[in-house]
Amino acid sequence: MLPLAISNLAGPTEWRWKTWSGKGIRKMGTAPYHDRDGFIWYDGALVPWREAKLHVLSHGLHYASAVFEGERAYAGRIFKLTEHSQRLAASAETLGFALPCSVDDVDRACDEVLRANSITDGYVRPIAWRGSEMMGVSAQASRIHLAIAAWNWGSYFSEEARQKGIRMCTSAWRRPSPQCAPVHAKATGLYMICTLSKHNAEAAGYHDALMLDWRGQVAEATGANIFVAMPDGRLHTPTPDCFLDGITRRTVIGLARSRGIEVVERAIMPDELRDAREVFLTGTAAEVTPVGEIDSYRFVPGEVTRLLTEDYQLATGQRQAQTVAA
Ligand code: PMP
Repeated sequence: MLPLAISNLAGPTEWRWKTWSGKGIRKMGTAPYHDRDGFIWYDGALVPWREAKLHVLSHGLHYASAVFEGERAYAGRIFKLTEHSQRLAASAETLGFALPCSVDDVDRACDEVLRANSITDGYVRPIAWRGSEMMGVSAQASRIHLAIAAWNWGSYFSEEARQKGIRMCTSAWRRPSPQCAPVHAKATGLYMICTLSKHNAEAAGYHDALMLDWRGQVAEATGANIFVAMPDGRLHTPTPDCFLDGITRRTVIGLARSRGIEVVERAIMPDELRDAREVFLTGTAAEVTPVGEIDSYRFVPGEVTRLLTEDYQLATGQRQAQTVAA
């Protein structure tokens, strides 16, 4: 059997080889996401995990009329839960629809899903989409659905990759301008170019891709924002004018400032990475992830990355102050 691809570099629990068995793609390793035990919150009620289905003629599937969130729970508490629920509602509004319930209800449902699945440290995935009442570009009368799943999940990148810093290459795909797409929404359609970029990077042996924006400026990774510690002692990060202003990004900016580290939000050109002392990514899934290389540039994870990693662990409740000090 020929190995076709490594489908996910997300971490040890997420590795699975796809192999061609003659009858179709066979997955080995972790259970597929549709075939697990537990409960998913679906349109107002918890349903058994395997029964959380939707019809193939759902508008969300055909026309990407769907918005979602990615949240992490630490010690049973979802970090920045209300900010995520508010962003979900704002993303839906950007796509022209309203969630079927209030932000408070979404908060409560996320907590309920966590408890129903006995998860203390894990990932929470709410998603809202247009249903199957209308099939065509226009879907004004389609029902809006909301589902929330949660599962145990470790590090987004393997521990080894995190120690050395992950390896990245620049994607040929660029983040579109705000005139070309609803760039501030966490909308599923925008992830088409992220998956293309990530697959290309993985096929070339990298962990992730750096995406430039339509102007050729540094934008972000395929699911995380980027920070660059420069020789001027300041932390630089691209202005989020055409990509997600991540909740983790904003948290880390706050943490850096309270440490007295100056943070500069500005346009960064890719060749400036030559001078970078340290580079790291931030995201709910990625948390604070050191970057070891981007194309021909090399970086060594250092003091700034270490301090902000620890501060983020304290902020999320992964660590207590005494552990960090020790
Ligand atoms: N950019 C993209 C494309 C993402 O998918 C994410 C993850 N949601 C981020 C940035 C970081 O956002 P956050 O810190 O809110 O998770």
